[in-house]
Amino acid sequence: MANITEAEIRKIVESIVRGTVSGNESAEKWTSTTYCGRTLVGVYADMNEAIEAADRGYRAVRAMSVEQREKIITEIRRLTVAEAAIMAEMGVAETGMGKVEHKRLKHILVAEKTPGTEDIVSEAKTGDNGLTLTEMAPFGVVGAITPSTNPSETVICNSIGMIAAGNGVVFNPHPNAICVSNYAVDLVNRASRAAGGPEVLVCSMVKPTLETANIMQTHPKIRLLVCTGGPGVVKAVLSSGKKAIGAGAGNPPVIVDDTADVVKAGKDIIDGCTFDNNLPCIAEKEVFAFRNIADKLIAEMQKNGAYLINKDQADQLAKIVLVEKTNKAGKTVKTVSRDCVGRDADVLLAKIGVKVSKDIRCVICETDFMHDFVQHELMMPILPIVRVDNIDQAIELAVKAEHGNRHTAHMHSKNVDHLSAFAKAVETTIFVKNAPSYAGIGFGGEGHTTFTIAGPTGEGITSARSFTRKRRCVMAESFRII
Ligand code: NAD
Repeated sequence: MANITEAEIRKIVESIVRGTVSGNESAEKWTSTTYCGRTLVGVYADMNEAIEAADRGYRAVRAMSVEQREKIITEIRRLTVAEAAIMAEMGVAETGMGKVEHKRLKHILVAEKTPGTEDIVSEAKTGDNGLTLTEMAPFGVVGAITPSTNPSETVICNSIGMIAAGNGVVFNPHPNAICVSNYAVDLVNRASRAAGGPEVLVCSMVKPTLETANIMQTHPKIRLLVCTGGPGVVKAVLSSGKKAIGAGAGNPPVIVDDTADVVKAGKDIIDGCTFDNNLPCIAEKEVFAFRNIADKLIAEMQKNGAYLINKDQADQLAKIVLVEKTNKAGKTVKTVSRDCVGRDADVLLAKIGVKVSKDIRCVICETDFMHDFVQHELMMPILPIVRVDNIDQAIELAVKAEHGNRHTAHMHSKNVDHLSAFAKAVETTIFVKNAPSYAGIGFGGEGHTTFTIAGPTGEGITSARSFTRKRRCVMAESFRII
């Protein structure tokens, strides 16, 4: 299929927006693989068919040289950069969450910093008994569940890594982000075809549901499950009886002590917290500030687009952004309102009658430790600040607020002992020092990127090698050449 034109994209985005606004077009839109006359390749109505197609894709990749695989990945990178703005617009239009410009940057980050086939490295061991090779082999067909917060970013990032490792992939995308996720699936397949690969290399569902996820989780041809999402879905996948990689929820705390460059800390924290309206799971979610620098930190945050609300306003807003639901065990629990996740700060403030301009990027407030804003992963630009007396109290509270997710934590300090003590105590997969949170996924920080950070199962910042299984090949008594 030829590259999509600007006019086609306008039509797709407008149709998404119209569908979202009126709700009338949704049913037809979501039960078709055709969006405004454009047929997406690799999108199936039946999960079993999708798995069979992904299996054929896997067999085609297995038959290819690594060089050919890398050519497909190069083309995926090229198309992702070329169509980053399109997917950013689609993502915001479809989910109602996030910032177009930040989503564009996230796609470019994925295109440029997701490792390809170079990540697959064989090991050799030689000795008196000969040569043993350990190679990173594909699993086969990977079943991947993706979130609404970074939908197409995760589809493309997973595709690059999983294809580099030699796998086929079937996605069960988030029901609130079907269009943009399937657009990304189509992009990967267009890249495959353009680079001489199979027409269908990765697959997805016209209408992903919990039932289709269940078929995926139990299908014998799915050899690895990779789940990026909240605690419910990670638990479901880890209970499937298959090998699974779980990338779950976080609630990243930030400590700012009195040795920190407070001017920089104020800016970095607001930049990180507001990136894509706080949707990234690594983004700053609550601050523990030393009492003697807290006023200055708040003032610096205000200089960087933060709006300070008082305690009553914070309590009022908490009742809106968190809603009560009855869980499966019949218990009443608070969960974030989907109407508030990833929304702009001015939109959130308007809900409590505060009118501000679009220059306001973040809502900040002082709270105590037990406040809902501290305890819940909000995924919106609301940042509570808790004053602390010393490093011991800061670490104790920050570790508690992280809730044992062991996902991500941040600290602004020049005291090496404080930095080391918090890093040790919090045990997170990512620990960012003196920078905005996104430095932890290679945006302004060293290292590769991923949108699947696998804390619970230990793969960490996933890459191609995370999607492989190790195989050993032994040549006894020969091939040691020294
Ligand atoms: P979500 O948990 O609502 O949904 C994720 C996916 O799981 C969706 O496709 C959904 O349809 C599916 N799903 C939900 N319950 C399921 C079940 N029981 N069985 C099968 N599938 C099920 O996620 P979301 O709201 O889009 O994303 C936000 C959450 O994901 C946050 O908690 C965030 O921290 C986390 N997240 C983590 C990472 C990471 O790398 N660790 C990355 C992105 C998002």
